Amino acid sequence: MNTRSLVFRLILWYATLLTIAFALVGTVTLFGVEQYVENNLENTLARRAQQAAEIVSHAVDTSDVKKIIATEIEDRLTPEFSNRFVRITNPDDNELYRSGAPADHSFNPALFSERLSNQSSSPYKILLDRNTLLVAVTRVATARGIYTIEVGSSLEQIQSVEDHLLTLALLMLPVLIGVAVGSGYFLVNRALKPVSNIARHAEQITHHNLSERLDVTPTGDELERLSVSLNRMIARLDEAFQNSRRFLADASHELRTPLTIIKGELEELALRRRNVLQLDRETQDKIGNVLEEMQRLIVIVEGLFALSRLDAGEAQREWVTFNLVELVATTADQMKLLADDAGLTIQYATQQSISVTGDRSRLKQVVVNLIDNAIKYTPLGGSIWLQVNSVHNQAHLEISDTGIGIPAEALPRVFDRFFRVDKARSRGGAGLGLAIVKSICLAHGGNIFVESQLGKGSRFTISLPLAKTIASETYSTVHAETDIRNRAEVSTTSIVNTNTLESTE
Ligand code: ADP
Repeated sequence: MNTRSLVFRLILWYATLLTIAFALVGTVTLFGVEQYVENNLENTLARRAQQAAEIVSHAVDTSDVKKIIATEIEDRLTPEFSNRFVRITNPDDNELYRSGAPADHSFNPALFSERLSNQSSSPYKILLDRNTLLVAVTRVATARGIYTIEVGSSLEQIQSVEDHLLTLALLMLPVLIGVAVGSGYFLVNRALKPVSNIARHAEQITHHNLSERLDVTPTGDELERLSVSLNRMIARLDEAFQNSRRFLADASHELRTPLTIIKGELEELALRRRNVLQLDRETQDKIGNVLEEMQRLIVIVEGLFALSRLDAGEAQREWVTFNLVELVATTADQMKLLADDAGLTIQYATQQSISVTGDRSRLKQVVVNLIDNAIKYTPLGGSIWLQVNSVHNQAHLEISDTGIGIPAEALPRVFDRFFRVDKARSRGGAGLGLAIVKSICLAHGGNIFVESQLGKGSRFTISLPLAKTIASETYSTVHAETDIRNRAEVSTTSIVNTNTLESTE
């Protein structure tokens, strides 16, 4: 469980507050019940003491006070039967009457001291043999002096009710908290479910699908406001992206024509009118340098133009189904001369056809760019391998080389626009080649991955969905078991005619 999640923290707060609330309510209830029951008992005892006082005030005028008081009290108050304690003390502090043991044996009256206790307040509590008695005191003034009447009752019953209530509260507390936390978890989870839906959907929105919007449920709550605000933000991002794409497309388009004209004019000057104008060597060299830079600039502008068209979804227009193996073979054939010039060998495996659907010329550009890079970054005597497989409904094209490799820290960025590992080794490129390759792959529903070891070589793997019309049983079994990690070995063993380029058709 994620202890930092909002659900967890809300439940924790909820459970803590609930426990405090339950504990407070329980304590107040227990205390209130105790007070209420004790007050009731106090009132009853006071009434009984009053009755006893009436008996005493009548009896003091008779000859046998002690006997009459005892008889009257036993008859009218029945202290033993009602589990009460009654004591009458005369003005000399001598006991006139003391009730016997109560029927429930809740206290022992014999433990009361012979003398009147010093309790002046009424009622008072006294502990007798682990039992507390609540005693109401009444004084009655007669012609013979002031008589004291004490009527008490054990608090044992009240205490046992309180103990019961406390045990019940302690047992119920965890159950109540458990039920509250369970239902709280359910409710919080339900309330926050739209948040995780919004987060999941928002995460799927990238610059490729900025036209998508989050679902807005018209609940009128904060989550509806959040979805609407996020949608507005995505709309603003979409607009900013569209603007920058339009700018890229317009700028590269506008730059292409003047650059081509300038280059043409310079070539005319440098090649054809060189003798007419009688240009000296230095001027000719300078024009040559400018022409080289101009060519670089044209390549960059062309690259940007290509990217802007890919961003606009241009690659999806002219799609056909074709044999990728054949495309790779013919492209490799065409680039063999370039590889020969660099002292490299290009090898590829002949195999059954593997069909994909897409823009053939764009996918050819992918193969050209990757072979071109492999040639550029592989030293003399090295080799380049090409291999096409079909793996799990995907066509995989691998281009491996024994070149200088790419440092691990640069690998995640090689597909970024204008990224070059380092300018010194970039051999004139502007860092747009791989960005174009990736854009084309993504536009075809595929992707590109790179593995590389510095000083040992690189392997670029392109995955493209297989054409739907091609029955998968024809091709998918060819190399289905081939794992991406050992494909280098597979391609080495399946090489046909090293140093000789073969076309499959
Ligand atoms: P560039 O046009 O500069 O070659 P890319 O986008 O094609 O730009 O490549 C980006 C960077 O990736 C290059 O600067 C280069 O350093 C590195 N790179 C590309 N392909 C290879 C390869 N086969 N071997 C080694 N480094 C490579």
